[in-house]
Formats: sequence, C-alpha cells, structure tokens
Amino acid sequence: MSEGLNIVVCIKQVPETTEVNFDEETGRLIREGVAAVINPFDEIAIEEGLRIKEKHGGAVKVLTMGPPWAADALRDAIAMGADEGYLATDRAFAGADTWATSLTLAKVIEHMGGYDLIICGLKTTDGDTGQTGPEMAEHMDIPHVCYVNEIVEISDGKVILKRIMDDGVETLEAPLPLLITVSKDINQPRLATLRGRLKAKKAEIKEITNSDLQLPVEEIGLDGSYTRVVKIFEPEVHMAGEVVEGSTDELVEAVFAKLQECKVI
Ligand SMILES: Cc1cc2nc3c(=O)[nH]c(=O)nc-3n(C[C@H](O)[C@H](O)[C@H](O)COP(=O)(O)OP(=O)(O)OC[C@H]3O[C@@H](n4cnc5c(N)ncnc54)[C@H](O)[C@@H]3O)c2cc1C
Repeated sequence: MSEGLNIVVCIKQVPETTEVNFDEETGRLIREGVAAVINPFDEIAIEEGLRIKEKHGGAVKVLTMGPPWAADALRDAIAMGADEGYLATDRAFAGADTWATSLTLAKVIEHMGGYDLIICGLKTTDGDTGQTGPEMAEHMDIPHVCYVNEIVEISDGKVILKRIMDDGVETLEAPLPLLITVSKDINQPRLATLRGRLKAKKAEIKEITNSDLQLPVEEIGLDGSYTRVVKIFEPEVHMAGEVVEGSTDELVEAVFAKLQECKVI
C-alpha cells in the first residue's frame, strides 16, 4: 500500500430542513425553494475518509448521484479537504429507489477506476432507509460493515474496525476492498477552510452520465425501481395535549399528579 488508499465517499444532498412538503399525487419531495446541504451523516463519512488518508496516504474521491446542482455538495466536500468530485447525473437515473440508486452508484464507482475503501453515511435525513451502502456492496460483490465507530488499523490489505451492536461493540477484521457505513459517534467533522473554499470553487467536477455506463434503462431510474411511493402523509396527532400554567412548584406538582394519574409513577 505504498501509494496509499483509493477512498470513495458517497454523499447525498438533502434539504436543509426537515419541514419539507410532498407532492401528494406523485409522493415526491418538493425540493424547489428549499436550501440543500450535504446529508449530515455524510459529513462524518467525509471526515473519516480524510482522517484515513492523512494516516495512510492516497486520495479521497467524493461521489453523488443527483441533479446538476448536487455539484454544490461535492464542492463543499472538496472545501473540507476531499481531492476529487464525481457527479452521476442523467435524466435516466431520476426517480430511482434505493435498489436502482445503489446499482447505479456501484457501476459509477467501477467506472471511476480502482477503489480500496468505500465509505457511506449511516443513513440520510430525508430518505432515511440506510439501505444504499449495503446494497452497493452486494451489487459490487465486496464485503461491508455497518455502524463502524472506530477504524483501529489498516495494513496488509486488511482493516481492523469496531462497530456498534445493540448489546456492545464488536471488533472485526475485513479485507479490502471494503464498504463501510459509519456511525455518528466515529468523529466530529471538520469545518471547511478558506483555502479549501477557494480550491473547491475552481475544482473540476467530473460528470458521469449513462452514456459512460451504458446501463440498460430498465435497470436504472424509475423503471429499475422495485418500490413505488404509493402514498405519503403526515401522521395525525391524536392527543391534543394539556397546557399547564403556574409557578415552578405548581407545574412540578401538576406534572407529578398527572404521572400518578396515568400510573407512570
Ligand atoms: C419509488 C421511488 C422514487 C423515488 N424518486 C426519487 C426522485 O425522483 N428523486 C429523489 O431525489 N429521490 C427519489 N427517491 C428517493 C431515493 O430512493 C433515495 O434518495 C435514494 O435511493 C437513497 O435512499 P436514502 O435516502 O434512504 O439513503 P440511505 O440509504 O439512508 O443512505 C445511506 C448512505 O448512502 C449514500 N447515498 C444515498 N443516496 C446517495 C446518492 N444519491 N448519491 C451518493 N450517495 C448516496 C450516503 O452515503 C448515505 O449516507 C425515490 C424513492 C422511491 C422509493
């Protein structure tokens, strides 16, 4: 590994707020007029990629599949320290569910050249499935480890890492090439520097379309998606709630009485 690691970090642009609206007919998110940012879990993935590169050498390539303006997310990642940005964008990719998204991303990474480590966020703040990373690994026929909260060592083509389980922390050894999804506690992402911002402004974003991949259209985008959003709605709030007013002592007493009444205490 004298030349260092070829690290690919997958990032998604998401709405800055969780207060988003949906088109009730199509079930799609209305993204127009809503500011977009890097999915916060993906900033953690970028940070981990940068730390691994700083220790072992190599390059961090960031990849997103999305509309042309998703290039902004790639520039933000370059401003943090990533080396190169790749944007997979094509009308044929639109409307993809996680299966079609992960297939396309897998093929894009293969098209980009060699890779040692692929890092994904735990999940997104909009789709929130956490499926894309593991599905990519399956499409690429490489091992994957989810919920990674520490990279202990990388040497001799192997990674020793820890991941969070329901009942503790598991230490694993996995061979490269490998895909991991990182837990939110693995690091604290750095802020972009002014120098980074200047570099990002001038950086070339490499666009990849389906003319580069030549994937059959029935395997990508909406046609390649096995799932459909049938209906989307905000759940009704059934309890109106009760507003209690008064001094601090009165409020404590009222809450205490209510908890007793509900047999919580
Ligand atoms: C029928 C259907 C139609 C849809 N149509 C659209 C649509 O028209 N437009 C649209 O924007 N979304 C659409 N979606 C949502 C789309 O499926 C998800 O955006 C996408 O598959 C990722 O899923 P997720 O958000 O749950 O990500 P997760 O699986 O929670 O993401 C986990 C990690 O995978 C990586 N990742 C996820 N998405 C991307 C990406 N795009 N590029 C790079 N890395 C990524 C990130 O590292 C992320 O942290 C549709 C979904 C369905 C079911």
